[in-house]
Amino acid sequence: MPKNFQSPSGMHDIFGEQYDYFERIREVFFKVAKIYGFEGIETPVMENIKVFTRGVGEHTDIVEKEMYSFKTKGGDQVALRPEGTAGIARSYIEHNLYTRTQPIKFFYFAPFFRYERPQAGRYRQFWQFGLETIGKESPVLDAQIIAVMYNVFQELGIKDLVVEINSMGDSSCREEFEKVLKKHFKKENSSLCADCKKRIKKNPLRVLDCKKCIKVKESAPQIVDYLCIQCRDDFKKVLEYLEELNIPYDLNSFLVRGLDYYTNTVYEFFASGSEERLALGGGGRYDGLINLLGGEETPATGAAMGVERTILSMKENEIKVEKETPRVFIAQLSDLAKRKCLKLFEEFRKANVPVSESFGQGSLKRQMNKANKMNAEYVLIMGEEEAVEDRIIIRDMQSGQQENIKTKEAVKEIKKKLK
Ligand code: ATP
Ligand code: MG
Repeated sequence: MPKNFQSPSGMHDIFGEQYDYFERIREVFFKVAKIYGFEGIETPVMENIKVFTRGVGEHTDIVEKEMYSFKTKGGDQVALRPEGTAGIARSYIEHNLYTRTQPIKFFYFAPFFRYERPQAGRYRQFWQFGLETIGKESPVLDAQIIAVMYNVFQELGIKDLVVEINSMGDSSCREEFEKVLKKHFKKENSSLCADCKKRIKKNPLRVLDCKKCIKVKESAPQIVDYLCIQCRDDFKKVLEYLEELNIPYDLNSFLVRGLDYYTNTVYEFFASGSEERLALGGGGRYDGLINLLGGEETPATGAAMGVERTILSMKENEIKVEKETPRVFIAQLSDLAKRKCLKLFEEFRKANVPVSESFGQGSLKRQMNKANKMNAEYVLIMGEEEAVEDRIIIRDMQSGQQENIKTKEAVKEIKKKLK
């Protein structure tokens, strides 16, 4: 067929095996998040652009370089969401969720958009699963989010995980640290990359995140030495909880995360086998965000993991997703049999017994092939003769034995056999 159209660059169709991985991750994540008391939330895929320029920050890569933004026909400036937290914070304020018992705990599984150079593990539309706990300040809430994510990966079979962790302090200890950092980088100005030369003016912390300026970073002062007592104490508590839960972590004083709203504890998840060291996801505390969006000072903490990178890691670890297929197959041959089998299929569905079929297929051989491929344990076969007599054959695929029963007994018989 001539192919006139392709999906947009960096955006992919999800089907087949990829969909099976997707579905598994979603199921495991929803299950684990609910156990820990999180509730689902869906927000629009676009927001007023200010939700991101104010929330995520004007001078972040996400907003400055990667955001899809446009004017609507009505003249509103909007952007496709590059991340989930700012929209959820907007929703928290809009719906007065602070009037409910705090904290509010949300989970989401949703697509996001960033105009990046497409490559393995980096796309323009990608999916994240994330958690937010808003409205209560306590290091145990940070640890709980790390624990949920850690357990999701464990349950998916990604066992060798490391959480890299750091504290970015609050606005007061950070101010002090930024001054010291600026001084250090100014001294080393000649060895900084072009981007970082700009970064030291507006956002010196970003330099710590730079993949080019490794040498200059190594001699830089470390934020842990500048934390106030409260921040140091909170950070220590998070680490103690992780130890209690046997979650392995590495301290990484360069970890600063790419968004302006983070404060205190921040972290990223890495699968130990990943060669390119792409993070599976990350998160942290963002006590300033609600305030940046016009709400009152509200403590909050959250994390987001990349679905596609999780799938890549599952594949690297040779983790297969077994799909559950029905143990019963209905085969029909002749028009009358097809009509009766359609009805029988409905009866199985109502009785909650999954069965498979291939009604589009006329030949018995093809239908039996499919049943074999699916490893069906029983095949129900209705030919012209059986159809006329309202009977059906049950074939035990393992022994090859066949019984001829009344069609209306089929559901009951199969239920008995599957037990
Ligand atoms: P990176 O440093 O790899 O660009 P990031 O800091 O921009 O990551 P976050 O904003 O922390 O990423 O997003 C959390 C997770 O979402 C990432 O760890 C990754 O798994 C996933 N993610 C982010 N951007 C993309 C993308 N363009 N394509 C696929 N997954 C992505
Ligand atoms: Mg990025």
